[in-house]
Amino acid sequence: MNCDILVIGCGPAGLSAASYAARAGYDVIALDSLAPGGQLLYIDEIENYPGLESKSGYALAESFEKQAVLFGAKIEFAEAKSIEKRDKLFIVKTGDGEIEAKAVILATGARHRHLGVPGEDEYQGRGVSYCATCDGPFFRDRIIAVVGGGDTALTDALYLSKLGKEVHLIHRRDQFRGQKALEDRVRAKENIILHLGKNIKSVNGDGRNVKSLTLSDDTELQADALFVFVGIIPNSELVNGFAELEGGFVKTDEKMCTSVPGLFAAGDVRTTSFRQVVTAAGDGALAAHQADEYIQNL
Ligand SMILES: Cc1cc2nc3c(=O)[nH]c(=O)nc-3n(C[C@H](O)[C@H](O)[C@H](O)COP(=O)(O)OP(=O)(O)OC[C@H]3O[C@@H](n4cnc5c(N)ncnc54)[C@H](O)[C@@H]3O)c2cc1C
Repeated sequence: MNCDILVIGCGPAGLSAASYAARAGYDVIALDSLAPGGQLLYIDEIENYPGLESKSGYALAESFEKQAVLFGAKIEFAEAKSIEKRDKLFIVKTGDGEIEAKAVILATGARHRHLGVPGEDEYQGRGVSYCATCDGPFFRDRIIAVVGGGDTALTDALYLSKLGKEVHLIHRRDQFRGQKALEDRVRAKENIILHLGKNIKSVNGDGRNVKSLTLSDDTELQADALFVFVGIIPNSELVNGFAELEGGFVKTDEKMCTSVPGLFAAGDVRTTSFRQVVTAAGDGALAAHQADEYIQNL
């Protein structure tokens, strides 16, 4: 198969890139190993996508996909397994064969590291969350627990302390890994209670919502929500050794250009300070625009 622009990953970044590139008149293939939507498919309700009052993640994923198809992008289901560049063409091998493209937009997203304790998966979206900006506002004046000891855990504990009645910050070590200045602010906050040197053994609920946590010393901590910040893993294996990475994320400049001319990266997989649907969609639009410029100058 041949195309002008191959988009790998059909989350918000990839589908936005596919829409922009197809609308600009390019022959676009958008590839996904699972289903269009990416992490949108795990969002019960999205409240912070500009222009939408509230929608299910599934419904928003459908709108992204319909729009890309309407503009002429072809959506294919296959996993991209390897990528190389021969002369000016990219060759991407998938489970179904090879795709040749003049430019490639990598939008393979990222996944949150889980604790792997009983109840975590069962209550995901019903109290267990991996994103404070996304889900914090659902827990105004409630009891919130946060687990983690790095910058994200500290920053988001501070953010959540403005929303929740109290925030219990649980960290397995006696010392935080995050910046000292953040730690000082956390320690100074009256409604943040620290539980250092403790793990979470289980997330407990009533079958519908989170009600409490069992900690490693067998104490039961009442909580309406648990925010897990124990790391994020970029889906960048495909370009490991092909493009420059930073901490596992694909290094880009502000125009979404990677270290390989003609390869662009957008969304959660790239080096960025804020991972949201709106930022992923913005990245996708910019990557498509840059791919257009790149192809015109080939
Ligand atoms: C539970 C949850 C709730 C969230 N809530 C919100 C919220 O309320 N508001 C908000 O703005 N953000 C929210 N987010 C974050 C938001 O969903 C992500 O920032 C956004 O989806 C990132 O988009 P993306 O396109 O970069 O990647 P993703 O959405 O991760 O999509 C990547 C796609 O690439 C595909 N893929 C990966 N590797 C390959 C490969 N080798 N070949 C082919 N396909 C591949 C995957 O199957 C996936 O479909 C939430 C995330 C989660 C998990």
